[in-house]
Amino acid sequence: MPRDWLLRQNSELRREGIFNWSLPAWAGRLPDGRTYNTCPSAGACAKICYARSGTYRFRNVLAAHERNLMMVLDDLPGWERRMTGELAHRRYADRHVRIHDSGDFLSPEYLDAWLRIMRATPATTFYAYTKEIALFKARVEPDPPANFKWVYSLGGTQDHLVDKDSDRHADVFPDDESMEAAGYTSQNESDLLAVYGPPKVGIPSNNIRHLRRIQGAASFGELQEQRDNRRRGPGKQYRTDRP
Ligand code: SF4
Repeated sequence: MPRDWLLRQNSELRREGIFNWSLPAWAGRLPDGRTYNTCPSAGACAKICYARSGTYRFRNVLAAHERNLMMVLDDLPGWERRMTGELAHRRYADRHVRIHDSGDFLSPEYLDAWLRIMRATPATTFYAYTKEIALFKARVEPDPPANFKWVYSLGGTQDHLVDKDSDRHADVFPDDESMEAAGYTSQNESDLLAVYGPPKVGIPSNNIRHLRRIQGAASFGELQEQRDNRRRGPGKQYRTDRP
């Protein structure tokens, strides 16, 4: 009987031998009526979220992501045991696991469970994009697992905590020209460049027409800056360090 793996491979990640763990993106309602928010620090990104469009909304894909979330919410220790057991399988040796191609580290307890899983499975390397900057600075940065790499991702309510000179971080740009002008390097060739390439990671925006229209000419980070500045009001604006 085929095994019911927790970690999957979409076509893009399969090309690079990367396995993937996904939650439903941002906010929604589970089939049993519970509401959730898997991206507590999502900001401007939420209304242009690639993971709330296209194939991610296919019934079977969303159902699989919801099933993952329910496991985490209903029985975190049981999920952690199952994930740790699965990662002992030889198919994960010397491979990469991307944590979340949608969703984020939704609570400190869930992040801590992942950190224990990583430490228990040193033959596998894990990586993640995250907007949970405060959580990572408090719980990951002081003593990260040796097999974990991460990149902060702009477009969230905690962008102001990212040190753009020293923190590895990613931004989503409407085109290559604006990415280059801002000094970011595209990770288009390989998802792993997000954690192995230059530390200012440029992501070309998804080719989904209505999302491109909403994004306009700004990057996710710039949209978040504009939003933060609107909230702060005149005289209390963040300065952008972009040309
Ligand atoms: S954090 Fe990522 S998955 Fe969540 S709403 Fe923003 S873009 Fe979507």
